[in-house]
Amino acid sequence: MSDKLTLDVAATDGRYHRQSLITWWDQSLLRDARVLVVGAGALGNELVKNLVLMGVGTVLVADLDVIEDSNLSRCVLFRPRDEGRSKAEVVVEAARDLNEEVELFALHGDVRSTIGLSVFRDVDVVLGGLDNREARLFVNQACWKVGTPWVDGAIEGLQGVARAFVPNQGPDEGPCYECTMGERDHQIVAARRSCSLLSRDEMEAGKVPTTATTAAIVAGIQVQEAIKLLHERGPMGLIGRGYAYNGVTHDSYVVTYARQEECMAHDHYEAEHSRDVPLDATFLQLLTLGRELLGTDDVTLQTETELAVSGRCESCETDRPINRPLHELKAPDAVCAVCGEELGLRLVHTIRPEHDEFLGLRPAEIGVAPADVVTARHGLERRHLVLGGALSLTERLTAATADGGAASAADGADPGPTGATLVPDAPGPQAAANPAEDVS
Ligand SMILES: [Zn+2]
Ligand SMILES: [Zn+2]
Repeated sequence: MSDKLTLDVAATDGRYHRQSLITWWDQSLLRDARVLVVGAGALGNELVKNLVLMGVGTVLVADLDVIEDSNLSRCVLFRPRDEGRSKAEVVVEAARDLNEEVELFALHGDVRSTIGLSVFRDVDVVLGGLDNREARLFVNQACWKVGTPWVDGAIEGLQGVARAFVPNQGPDEGPCYECTMGERDHQIVAARRSCSLLSRDEMEAGKVPTTATTAAIVAGIQVQEAIKLLHERGPMGLIGRGYAYNGVTHDSYVVTYARQEECMAHDHYEAEHSRDVPLDATFLQLLTLGRELLGTDDVTLQTETELAVSGRCESCETDRPINRPLHELKAPDAVCAVCGEELGLRLVHTIRPEHDEFLGLRPAEIGVAPADVVTARHGLERRHLVLGGALSLTERLTAATADGGAASAADGADPGPTGATLVPDAPGPQAAANPAEDVS
């Protein structure tokens, strides 16, 4: 070989040198990027591993589960000694060890009530390592509201699919996750929603077969798509499309999803109709601001999730405060501690000026996620009030994990299991983890 062809790598060699040799690569884009990983199981482990190895500057990891021994065959960042610990926390600790340059946050709790919509707003990409349709529907709607792209991954056995959904609020906006759902998916979600808490618990008992190998393949594609999106090279990738992988035959193909115009998940919260408010604002303060912004006294406040504020036992004639999102409740949370009767739940999704009992409270006190959005509305006119929106993401995350919100309630002396939620590790046989079902 001639000397002319020899590159002097010594001057440019560094941790990220090899990937930086890709012509369009800009490591500074990765360094400045903030990525939220939802789910810290088989996919989540691989997602986080890839992100930190590649030098993505800030990685948030959300999961409500604790580690079991059956996770060890598929999760590169878990060790046998971690059994019983929070998946999100262990992933973050291990990832820190892989690359101390990356800023990492663990969010232990249900993504639907732990972090709030403002966190979705302030990350560049969301990566899904989820195992059920309900959580995907939530992530999809959250991303659409605030305009953040997300890349979903699903695995079952030796099959998997990765797909990217990008809300752009323009006329050429593509399909969302919900657009890809078929009749059967909708039926399953509806059936689960209409079930009592008790039977919902039972439905969670099933387990889906997954392997470390398929997880590595699908998560690898997901992170690769995230890198393209960060470089604004998404269109060459999987926006509105799915990469389906069959590990049995090694057939793989890309499917293009159709946008369903009648899909209910395309709501956008316009930035010009959003207003940052203090993290500890009371409903009265939110109502007052909403009235001012909308120019009328006839204002209703709307929370992102349905809240169970109390439960009434008809036989004991007693009321018991609950103050948690409905989706977090498990069967034991909804029975009378004295007589065992099922409680009649008082559910709240909207707060009106006449609801005196709530006006003095902070949203977090009745179960709203710490950095969530409360929407003030008058007819079709809306103003989105972003709790703690002016704080840095770090400050909001610190509040989310330190506050009396869902995150810490998960570790508290609550009667429910840790993180009390409807969607733990395993979906039933009806789960969206089945790529064959999901790819339509
Ligand atoms: Zn849609
Ligand atoms: Zn009772």
